[in-house]
Amino acid sequence: MTPTPPPSADAVLAALRDLQAGDLPTHGGRTLAYVYDSGLAEADALGREALAMFASSNGLDPTAFPSLQRMENDLVADAGRLLDAPEGFTGAVTSGGTESILLAVLAARRGAPHVTDPSMVLPSSAHAAFLKAAEYLGVRPVVVDVDPGTLRADPVATAAAVDDSTVLVVVSAPSYAHGVVDPVAEVAALAAERGIRCHVDACIGGWVLPHLDDGPPWTFAVPGVTSISVDLHKYAYTPKGVSLLLHRDASLRRGHLFAEAGWPGYTMLNSTMQSTKSGGPLAAAWAVTRFIGADGYARLARTARDATLELASAATELDGLHVVAAPDSTLLALATDGSCDVFTIADEMLARGWFVQPQMAFGDLPATLHLTLSAATAPSVPEFVTALREAVEAARAAGPIAVDPALAGMLTSLDPATLDDAGFAGVLAAAGLAGDGGGIALPDRMAPVNALLDACPPRLREALLVGVLDRLSRPTPGPGPGD
Ligand SMILES: *Cc1c(COP(=O)(O)O)cnc(C)c1O
Repeated sequence: MTPTPPPSADAVLAALRDLQAGDLPTHGGRTLAYVYDSGLAEADALGREALAMFASSNGLDPTAFPSLQRMENDLVADAGRLLDAPEGFTGAVTSGGTESILLAVLAARRGAPHVTDPSMVLPSSAHAAFLKAAEYLGVRPVVVDVDPGTLRADPVATAAAVDDSTVLVVVSAPSYAHGVVDPVAEVAALAAERGIRCHVDACIGGWVLPHLDDGPPWTFAVPGVTSISVDLHKYAYTPKGVSLLLHRDASLRRGHLFAEAGWPGYTMLNSTMQSTKSGGPLAAAWAVTRFIGADGYARLARTARDATLELASAATELDGLHVVAAPDSTLLALATDGSCDVFTIADEMLARGWFVQPQMAFGDLPATLHLTLSAATAPSVPEFVTALREAVEAARAAGPIAVDPALAGMLTSLDPATLDDAGFAGVLAAAGLAGDGGGIALPDRMAPVNALLDACPPRLREALLVGVLDRLSRPTPGPGPGD
């Protein structure tokens, strides 16, 4: 038998395109979470070219690839100008918002070596990446409820939560879930008074808010702000894999600079978590930010902001729907009045070619739909509103989704701490989600699954979703490409 020759490059590319056809579209402005589209085709093409040019360059050693250190320093300088950083500030390019946040928490913890049981105080609206950092790095999270009226961090409750173990206080500009900016000045002041660091998570707003001249200050112009994270792979519209972490001064960064000479290989020297680090995303960010420029970003920010306000007022007009908080940036959270449910609306929107992201109920807050507006969505807001009107009407006609009481009863009787593989298989079977070969079969309409998850307490929901991820992430069965 003659072995099959490997496929041609064209055939491999065609196969990649086939795979990609099942994904959400990254461009066109119809995906309102996960992706960011400037609508500038030339900027995108430039980003891709820079990405390819530096894809194999390695940020492991800045002396071997000085171009990468230079591009990093340029981007940190750009961000410093945007975020009112004072003389002496420093920063680093990371792989994403989560890495920036992990490093901010790490630097705070290592910067307070005398604290034996370190904790950080964060509003309940802070991004889950802080809880991940807490778990990874052994920093106890002290979560403070946001003000129920404004959904912003509560400075009085924050002050009460701070104690001798606090190494970091966190605020957002804005929060991902509700799109509101915390009272940064108040919180930073109370942190500074006690000699505690204050991190502003501007991962999603950092490249937008400085270009809109409204709202209270939240940058390094605010005394007491010690570090800020801002993702370039969000509103700088650069390819995925780039975020920035800025520190008010070099001493604050020391905790995440790492050197290791105690092994026989090269002396490891890193400013971030990655060691080998592709130069591609960094070069792409450098190229795209230069090409779009300050005026370009100001225009894009204004466009996305106007679209957000237009969409917010149109959504408010729809029967059954409301905006949970007046948006401070370019994010919206929508909730229903109980005449229908957000999960059905999300399915109806997807059927009409729009992706909106369901967010589960949390504490006293109802489930919501999250919308991140890119500049590229702006021209289609009227079309979006038409689809949303139809989706809400369809959801109202169907009525709020009912969770099967027997199934809900079975789920809530589960103990997340002891849910094992067999138990999870039972859940899948009972929910009608069991697929071939012990796998999982996700339905086209996710509302019944989402409603079920929404009815579960957070710890149980986590255990169930870990089960889902475990089933999804299994080696592809069958022969491989070389067989
Ligand atoms: C996106 C985001 C993060 C996490 O960033 P990733 O790039 O997804 O790791 C953190 N905080 C906020 C406010 C965000 O919007």
